[in-house]
Amino acid sequence: MEFIDLKTQYKRIEEKVQLRIKQVLESTQFIMGPEVEALEVALAEFSSAKYAITASSGTDALLMIMMAYGIGPGDAVFVPAFTFPATPEVVALLGGSPIFVDVNPRTFNLDVASLKQAIASCRLEGLNPKIILAVDLYGHPADYDELDEIAKTEGLEIVADAAQSFGATYKGKRVGALATCTAVSFFPAKPLGCYGDGGAVLTSNEALADKLKSIRAHGKGQDKYDTVRVGLNARMDTLQAAILLEKLAIFPDEIARRQAVAERYTNKLHSVFSVPEVATNCSSVWAQYTLKLASRDVRARLQSKLKSAGVPTAVYYPKPLPYQNAYKEYVIAGQHFTNAEKLSDTVLSLPMHPYLNVGEQNTVIDNALSFANEEVLENATA
Ligand SMILES: *Cc1c(COP(=O)(O)O)cnc(C)c1O
Repeated sequence: MEFIDLKTQYKRIEEKVQLRIKQVLESTQFIMGPEVEALEVALAEFSSAKYAITASSGTDALLMIMMAYGIGPGDAVFVPAFTFPATPEVVALLGGSPIFVDVNPRTFNLDVASLKQAIASCRLEGLNPKIILAVDLYGHPADYDELDEIAKTEGLEIVADAAQSFGATYKGKRVGALATCTAVSFFPAKPLGCYGDGGAVLTSNEALADKLKSIRAHGKGQDKYDTVRVGLNARMDTLQAAILLEKLAIFPDEIARRQAVAERYTNKLHSVFSVPEVATNCSSVWAQYTLKLASRDVRARLQSKLKSAGVPTAVYYPKPLPYQNAYKEYVIAGQHFTNAEKLSDTVLSLPMHPYLNVGEQNTVIDNALSFANEEVLENATA
């Protein structure tokens, strides 16, 4: 059984993808070929953002956004303590301060009380609070209405790190239309992945879109040799855009399949395990389906039981970022990340992809349930 099965997906679209690749190879328009613009139009339409600016990765998409907002020394950007390193990385790279915020243990996303506290603490430290960089962890959107209220009161911008959630919805709105700027990733293992690195920024703000396009190509102005700002080389390869056009065509069907797997897991497991919740009016794209176990030991036992039954699992993430050597210096004295710490000890993600068949789902479910029974018996006799 695969944790994420990219082979079955490839078999499904093999001929179309190969034709697309062949067309790019024959056109030799490897950089900014027509497929890039076609993909940008399709992504904008899919997400109901006005503009999609493709990029070389999700990380570069985030970096481009931080550059567009002019983040630099003295600026504070609020990031969850429980996320992938790319989230704080882009802030630190520009000399800004990523300020960690504890997460809500039910939603895995930014905790509002901790966010308010972090904003106050960083003002006392003499930093300028600028951006709330919300992560839609495991594919479920953060609570943008709640964050909006804080952003308005505090005079902050909201940026969405939607690397895991492209295709999800929040109160009837698509990811891409939930914040002024949204970064998505097409890393192969994400719900919509290409065959290498890729990403995009989604926005409906024309001025920002223009700035982002300039940043993406060495700060270009009117033409290639008019340079108006310090930029990057952060373009998506035409080949990846061509591949993504075919993947995007089957993406709605794949989302539905993911949601069916998640629903089945939840139906069978919710009475015994702490299963992930989906907020009312929201949908997840299930980048991960993540259980919370009672302790580190229980998780280790379940993981090894599943492993011996041929079921791969993963821990996202084993150590919160504020405790990592690279990011310790950004923690403000007195800050705690109790929920992130607990989650690091207790989360376990199950196999999740659109092609996980009922037999495989049953293997996961049956082994997890029999583990739970064994634990109950053991506790009873202990
Ligand atoms: C994957 C991921 C990124 C980075 O995306 P890449 O395309 O790998 O650069 C950023 N943030 C989060 C939350 C991610 O999961």
